Amino acid sequence: MRLLLVEDNPKVASFVARGLREQAFAVDEVASGEDALDQIAINPYDLIVLDLGLQGAIDGMEVCRRLRASGSRVLILMLTARDATADRIAGLDAGADDYLAKPFAFGELVARVRALLRRGQVATPSVLEVGDLRVDTSAQRVERGGRAIELTTKEYALLEFFARNAGRVIGRGEISEHVWDENFDPISNLIEVYVQRLRRKLGAPAMLHTRRGAGYVLREEPSDA
Ligand code: CA
Repeated sequence: MRLLLVEDNPKVASFVARGLREQAFAVDEVASGEDALDQIAINPYDLIVLDLGLQGAIDGMEVCRRLRASGSRVLILMLTARDATADRIAGLDAGADDYLAKPFAFGELVARVRALLRRGQVATPSVLEVGDLRVDTSAQRVERGGRAIELTTKEYALLEFFARNAGRVIGRGEISEHVWDENFDPISNLIEVYVQRLRRKLGAPAMLHTRRGAGYVLREEPSDA
C-alpha cells in the first residue's frame, strides 16, 4: 500500500514516515500543498495523510477541496489541531474520510490508516486467506498451512498486495506503484528478486505464478497450470 504524507514539519514528517515504512507501507513525503497536488496527479496513492498547516499558498483544507472538486476519491486522513472542532467539521465537509487530532499516538494513526484502507476496499477483512495461506494485515503475520513464515517488511508488503488482489494478474507497473515509493527504479529487477524470495519462503505447491508478458498472480492452482 502506498501513501503520501503531506506535512511541513520535518521532525513530525520523518517520525511518521519512518513509522509507516516499518509498518510495510511505501511512503512519499511532501511539505507543500502544491507538491501534494502534483504528486497525487501522477501517482496512484492508496491513501493521503494530510496535515492542515503546510508550506506554500495551499493549505491542507484546500488540497482536500481541490481533490474532491476534481473527482478524486483517494482516501484522505486529515491531521487537525486538538480540540479544534471547527477544523474537524471543515475537514469532513471538505471531503476528508477521517481525521486525527494532534498530538496523536502513532499506534492510533496506523490503526486509522488500516481501518480506512479496509473501508476503501469493499468489506476486506483484516485477515486475508488464499488457499492455505493466511495474511494477518493487523499483526503483519503470515502463515501457510499453519506454519509461520518470516518475512522482511518489504517482502510482507509485496505479499499483502498480492493477497489483496488474489486471483488477478498484476503487472510490474501496478506493483511498483503500490508497493514501492517514488525512489523505485523502473529498470531494476527488484520486483523479480522479491517475487523469487517470496516463492522460496512460501514453499510448495507454488502459489505465486508468472503470466508471461503480463505479470504475476497469487492463486492456489496446480503448478503446471
Ligand atoms: Ca504542519
